[in-house]
Amino acid sequence: MSLKSGSFLRHVFTLRLVSENSQISFTWRFKPMHIVILALVSVCLFFYLFKRSENAHSFEAQKYAYLQESNKELSLHVDKLREERNRLAGLVEMQNIELADRLREVEHSSAEVRNIIGLPNNRTEDSKVLPDRKRSSLSSRGVLAKNYIFLNSGGFSGIKEQIEATVKDIEKLKPSAVKYVKALKLRRSVASMIPDAIPLSGVITSPFGNRIHPVYGYVRFHSGVDIAAPFGSKIKASASGVVVESGYMSGYGNTVVISHGYGFRTLYAHCSALKASVGQKVKKGEEIASVGSTGISTGPHLHYEVIKDGVQVNPEPYFEYSEKRIDNVIARYGIN
Ligand SMILES: [Zn+2]
Repeated sequence: MSLKSGSFLRHVFTLRLVSENSQISFTWRFKPMHIVILALVSVCLFFYLFKRSENAHSFEAQKYAYLQESNKELSLHVDKLREERNRLAGLVEMQNIELADRLREVEHSSAEVRNIIGLPNNRTEDSKVLPDRKRSSLSSRGVLAKNYIFLNSGGFSGIKEQIEATVKDIEKLKPSAVKYVKALKLRRSVASMIPDAIPLSGVITSPFGNRIHPVYGYVRFHSGVDIAAPFGSKIKASASGVVVESGYMSGYGNTVVISHGYGFRTLYAHCSALKASVGQKVKKGEEIASVGSTGISTGPHLHYEVIKDGVQVNPEPYFEYSEKRIDNVIARYGIN
């Protein structure tokens, strides 16, 4: 074919595809220019797709690098956190030991105060509620369960301050506890010396005051009370004191006199046997003699007198315990 290129481009070509049985045929008419355009479009499309794929690959690589970097940073962060956790755990343990020591001090002071007041120190009940996990470590430091709960109820610094405050409070309370106990002991001591115990259980057959005397038959002052009881019944000291008389006294028969202090004396007359000797210290309720009918007497009974500041007074009101009476004695003797 000898065609010039310019005229070649103007020619129209036909491309025909026919199936073997001639039933389907496909005809495409085209000019060479169409091939050129198609080739150009193909090249452009190829380059476009190639570039795009290259970009996508680069993005993936960047993403991978970024993730790798992030991972490294996170690892470092995790390491730091681990270190911090270990440091804090150490700190918590130290604080725990310190608090346990302070709590032990509180416990010690509390035990001291309890001892002063005379309360029992019951630690077994407290340890029952302590969780097993903590029991060994804390109980070995002598920390009570309530303190353990307290220890775990909030921040350390706050608790520490509270413990310091409690220790100070206990220290402050100690002198008043000592004072209170001293006052209580004094009160008990005074109470033991006030003749308010009944010396003999029996019937009062003759009260204190003026009466017709059973033997003499005329009105005579009765300086005590007569308590009737079977012969040999136990006569007990109505208060603690020292025996100042123990022997036969005219009219009274076998008699015991006890001095209690604070102006009080008691007298027990008409006894059969005397069971306390002069100078003997006796306690309230202690047996000092037996009921008899010695001296001027019509039958077995106890003639009992309460002598206050040298004067016989009615013993009957003394058979009742009185806080006011103790107060009066303390106030009168200015003891504290
Ligand atoms: Zn009498």
